[in-house]
Amino acid sequence: MKLLEGKVAIITGASRGIGKGIAESFVRHGATVAFTYLSSDEKARALEQELSAQGGVAKGFRSDASKYDSAHQLVDDVMAEFGKIDIVVNNAGITRDNLLMRMTEEQWDEIMEINLKSAFNLTKAVIKPMLKARSGSIVNMSSVVGVKGNGGQANYAASKAGMIGFTKSVAAELGSRNIRCNAIAPGFIETEMTGALDEKVVQGWRDAIPLKRGGTTEDVANLTVFLASDMSAYITGQVINVDGGMLM
Ligand code: NAP
Repeated sequence: MKLLEGKVAIITGASRGIGKGIAESFVRHGATVAFTYLSSDEKARALEQELSAQGGVAKGFRSDASKYDSAHQLVDDVMAEFGKIDIVVNNAGITRDNLLMRMTEEQWDEIMEINLKSAFNLTKAVIKPMLKARSGSIVNMSSVVGVKGNGGQANYAASKAGMIGFTKSVAAELGSRNIRCNAIAPGFIETEMTGALDEKVVQGWRDAIPLKRGGTTEDVANLTVFLASDMSAYITGQVINVDGGMLM
């Protein structure tokens, strides 16, 4: 069953990792996908080719999520190319971990701009066409760290917690216009990046999770498809963990 047939989606930060997994699942479910990235031109072109080889329609846009004007330009470009925007997945995000004692102002600001302000930028830019269409689903990629905090990640945790407050406020404000907004809180998701970590350390993390494994990008993508689709038409303002039971 294709859950996103006829829908147009913007996914930020999809040249690799979770965003890429979401783009692949969205195309499998029939969506037209506009995805963004910051610098991975080659990976973006490769993903475009991979998705179109599967019969999908997908286009990568180089667009810095932390920049307000770029988000507006992106929405204009996607509207010009595909005519509407039904779904936005605010996924782009980074870490700049450090103990608070050593954290620099730059490390704090960079995280806030790329992880949190980015969601404001694109949501603000997209609500006009969504209000006009009286329909839309916005999915924000938070983290379990935003729910419970984490030593060494005060900046990241604050940005991901901020995303939850933003999600609930957007849901409250735009629900009457049939625009839904939900957040996903992934736990430990195994990506190319975690593949480079010490296997013993990673196994320790897996052992501490009730389901005894790290999550896959597909695990997160499955929930994103559901929240983007009409299957979740009566769900808004929620934060749903995809964490193998890490947080209960
Ligand atoms: P990732 O593999 O590092 O990929 C990050 C993506 O974001 C890349 O496509 C990157 O593009 C893009 N990006 C970075 N800065 C950007 C900017 N300023 N503008 C536009 N795009 C930008 O990350 P991930 O692990 O898949 O994580 C994706 C999201 O899930 C993040 O928000 C992260 O906080 C959240 N999350 C991840 C985990 C996990 O275990 N992996 C757990 C909880 C939450 P380039 O390739 O061009 O740099």
